[in-house]
Amino acid sequence: MAVSALAGLAAELPDGVVVTDPDILASYRQDRAADPAAGTPLAVVRPTRTEEVQTVLRWASANRIAVVPRGAGTGLSGGATAVDGGIVLSTEKMRDIIVDPVTRTAVVQPGLLNAEVKKAVAEYGLWYPPDPSSYEICSIGGNIATNAGGLCCVKYGVTTDYVLGLQVVLADGTAVRLGGPRLKDVAGLSLTKLFVGSEGTLGVVTEVTLRLLPPQPPACTVVATFNSVEAAAGAVLTITNKIRPSMLEFMDAVAINAVEDKLRMGLDRSAAAMMVAASDSRGPAGGHDAEFMAQVFTEAGATECFSTSDPAEGEAFVAARRFAIPAVEAKGSLLLEDVGVPLPALADLVGGVAKIAADRDVTISVIAHAGDGNTHPLIVFDPADAAMAERAEKAFGEIMDLAVSLGGTITGEHGVGRLKKPWLAGQLGPEAMELTRRIKSALDPAGILNPGAVI
Ligand SMILES: Cc1cc2nc3c(=O)[nH]c(=O)nc-3n(C[C@H](O)[C@H](O)[C@H](O)COP(=O)(O)OP(=O)(O)OC[C@H]3O[C@@H](n4cnc5c(N)ncnc54)[C@H](O)[C@@H]3O)c2cc1C
Repeated sequence: MAVSALAGLAAELPDGVVVTDPDILASYRQDRAADPAAGTPLAVVRPTRTEEVQTVLRWASANRIAVVPRGAGTGLSGGATAVDGGIVLSTEKMRDIIVDPVTRTAVVQPGLLNAEVKKAVAEYGLWYPPDPSSYEICSIGGNIATNAGGLCCVKYGVTTDYVLGLQVVLADGTAVRLGGPRLKDVAGLSLTKLFVGSEGTLGVVTEVTLRLLPPQPPACTVVATFNSVEAAAGAVLTITNKIRPSMLEFMDAVAINAVEDKLRMGLDRSAAAMMVAASDSRGPAGGHDAEFMAQVFTEAGATECFSTSDPAEGEAFVAARRFAIPAVEAKGSLLLEDVGVPLPALADLVGGVAKIAADRDVTISVIAHAGDGNTHPLIVFDPADAAMAERAEKAFGEIMDLAVSLGGTITGEHGVGRLKKPWLAGQLGPEAMELTRRIKSALDPAGILNPGAVI
């Protein structure tokens, strides 16, 4: 029945939009979370315009066929995992951008990559701040759907802080415009924000109006190594109590060594932790901030501390931090955590993760957007070793339980997707879960949008 319905959809769309080649379908089954429970979709649909997305959703609603929205598939929580007999709606061909330097906004289609948005707006002397480590490979639509964070978010906020307006296609095919190029606008409920971070469960984002900033001033960078992770984590609180760094990142020994194995840049392999901090305050203030951070690191027990006002030199350390996930991934399969805590609990979280690693006898590398209290414990395991894989899975859950017990969150930026869904109720509680379900069923009564994710 679904296959004959698909012929009807293909007839309504331009040639080539509906793809059923089995090899291509296979490449759209999973995102970077590589969820083993991924299904095989009936088709991948790659529209170019909002009207085509409307056609797809009208058809899916009429035929009760699941739709999994997909950007670039770099998600780490299984949010874009395909379901059997559903379709994957990929936005990769929706790539227009119009920059308006007068209002300092850009109207962007969802398939453009984050790096391409940054580049296009830079041509007008403007800056789009959110910078997930994956910025060269992830789409702006995926960033909106996950409310992506990144390295400069400690000072500049996350994706939602730059979303002024959206066009969203709802489950029944209705296209809605929300917000627009206005810096202040409180008319009606905050519906724009409702869709940011909704992980494809409430609608498909087909256009976004982004707020842009003047270019970022050059940064002064401070790099420090420590012989204890707690000392490094402790320094974070002292710094954020006094100044607003533009970056405050943490890497543990496993991450340092994994990056050094690949990049050979002379990182101290014997260090237990490394902090990469920066200030982009204008004029002499940047240098003062850097001096202050170097002093805090030294007083916290840094074994080495190095400062530079040369942006290229600083960028090399930032690149090392960005490279940490792929570098650790080279050591084995990863279960990638994304837990966050209020800043005073950061050292307890890092210490608690080390205990879980010891108890479960698995390697867990911790990297963190430390200034946001958002950590990424990377659980390394060998999928061929069933006992180890089971211990790794146990550790994955225990880390989320630990974060919640410290007043934290199961996800700071990657989203709940499918992998973290079983832990969501434990954080939100029954009332917030019920409210979430009511919103979902009001917007998607037949449950066709990204079934199995989040809710
Ligand atoms: C090496 C590496 C580093 C990373 N670093 C970071 C980081 O620093 N910060 C961070 O936040 N993330 C990071 N990520 C995770 C990932 O890149 C982000 O979650 C990103 O926002 C996903 O974008 P995407 O285009 O790949 O979306 P996808 O993976 O394709 O989809 C993600 C979710 O969004 C939904 N979706 C996608 N497009 C739309 C749309 N147009 N409308 C509605 N729903 C949609 C999907 O259904 C899914 O639920 C990293 C990933 C990797 C591989």
